[in-house]
Amino acid sequence: MDDLFNSFMAGPDEDGRFGQFGGRFVSETLMPLILELQRQYEIAKDDPEFWAEMDALWADYVGRPSPMYRADRLTERLGGATIYMKRDELNHTGAHKINNVLGQILLARRMGKTRIIAETGAGQHGVATATVCAKFGLQCVVYMGATDVERQSPNVFRMKLLGAEVIPVTSGRGTLKDAMNDALRDWVTNVRETFYCIGTVAGPHPYPAMVRDFQSVIGKEAKAQLMEKEGRLPDTIIAAIGGGSNAMGLFFPFLDDREVRIIGVEAGGHGVDQKMEHCASLTGGRPGVLHGNRTYLLQDDDGQILEGHSISAGLDYPGIGPEHSWLHDVGRAEYVAITDKEALEAFQLCCETEGIIPALEPCHALAHVMKIAPGLPASHIICMNMCGRGDKDIFTVARAFGFDMDGPVGRDAG
Ligand SMILES: *Cc1c(COP(=O)(O)O)cnc(C)c1O
Repeated sequence: MDDLFNSFMAGPDEDGRFGQFGGRFVSETLMPLILELQRQYEIAKDDPEFWAEMDALWADYVGRPSPMYRADRLTERLGGATIYMKRDELNHTGAHKINNVLGQILLARRMGKTRIIAETGAGQHGVATATVCAKFGLQCVVYMGATDVERQSPNVFRMKLLGAEVIPVTSGRGTLKDAMNDALRDWVTNVRETFYCIGTVAGPHPYPAMVRDFQSVIGKEAKAQLMEKEGRLPDTIIAAIGGGSNAMGLFFPFLDDREVRIIGVEAGGHGVDQKMEHCASLTGGRPGVLHGNRTYLLQDDDGQILEGHSISAGLDYPGIGPEHSWLHDVGRAEYVAITDKEALEAFQLCCETEGIIPALEPCHALAHVMKIAPGLPASHIICMNMCGRGDKDIFTVARAFGFDMDGPVGRDAG
């Protein structure tokens, strides 16, 4: 392992570095904002009152703890390892994103901020941010690439219903990367009243560590729940990776349990050997700087950031959180890629065997479970993060399965 740390849980260092990754690659004008945020987060992090407020909202507003569910029919069907699902899809707003948004917005309130800005790609982080802003009566501005605004109109409408202002970004190609740039520009311009709420374990330090800390509620609960149900730790934990926040949240509390195998699943799209028809930053990218940190990125030979492809809109972040890059390089976690087609097969199996319609993101994790479970004994416990529900994805899946949503009901049933 990296000799910087005695423990995999000790990072990052004071400059926000996980080995050669992470850090604070921001303009001079942003630096004071970042340092102030870090100072305030460090105070809040050591304040039991801050966590008491979080715990109360996690319980009463989000619905935590989320259940730890043994998927018996799936286990039987795959005929090998025992499979558990951490049910974060049952959270308010249907995914794990709200765990982090609540943390950042409680911090913003402590700092006296009245205006929250965020960037969003598929819209899930924008919806979570607009939700918590509505709950606290805060002004909310969401930057979204113009292309994404068109592609994700139901989420744009949700944000508007929740009182947020959605600003379409037309610079560049009008997608997530351009929205991130505009959000950073807004932050510098409106620094006094504004808090920038980042949706994954990326951005300049302290964001990757802070978002991880907020999402770690997933792994802490998982550990306690499996100890209660099985009297021991799981053998393997698995999660899907866009920027890597739900995965980091599950993984972090297990990093120093060396006997636990950790697997992150990236979006392989049409296949990682297909040039950029995927979003697998670790499997198919190389290190560079984006969004204020150094990490593995999808980029061309000149270092231009590339747009990847995935059937799952939530996995199309062009980078990956720096802590994952470090865990990959020191070998504490393994990273694999799953194709669109494999994720769709997992979607169908999950619906049919467990009565759970999953989001396409965790289907990537489940598809890898389908690959490894049959070769393992029943005594081997796998815990996967079911990080989102599938309501948002049924139109995409219908299209992929060739089901005519507008046609007469029951036509194919006769
Ligand atoms: C946003 C999202 C993801 C990807 O984000 P991470 O930061 O990698 O967790 C995965 N699953 C769901 C359901 C999402 O909404």
